[in-house]
Amino acid sequence: MRTEEAIEIVEAYQLWRRDKNVPSKYKQPDPTELGKAIDKLIDVAKDSENPMPTCIQCKSNKHMILEGWHYACEMCQLEYSGD
Ligand SMILES: [Zn+2]
Repeated sequence: MRTEEAIEIVEAYQLWRRDKNVPSKYKQPDPTELGKAIDKLIDVAKDSENPMPTCIQCKSNKHMILEGWHYACEMCQLEYSGD
């Protein structure tokens, strides 16, 4: 899920949740999609706090994990030193 899509879903949920009309004039977002959107935004927030390095092979940091003092790309099975 793209960040923009996750933001849209969470914003739509907030509109639905805060609406005083019964029933709400807004459509309730699908709870599964809301959960995925929250997971995405948690990932984005964590990434902005402590960004993972980018893997030289897959050009992404989505599969990077911290193993002790080293980073590793789980997808490419490559290890990187901590600097
Ligand atoms: Zn990789």
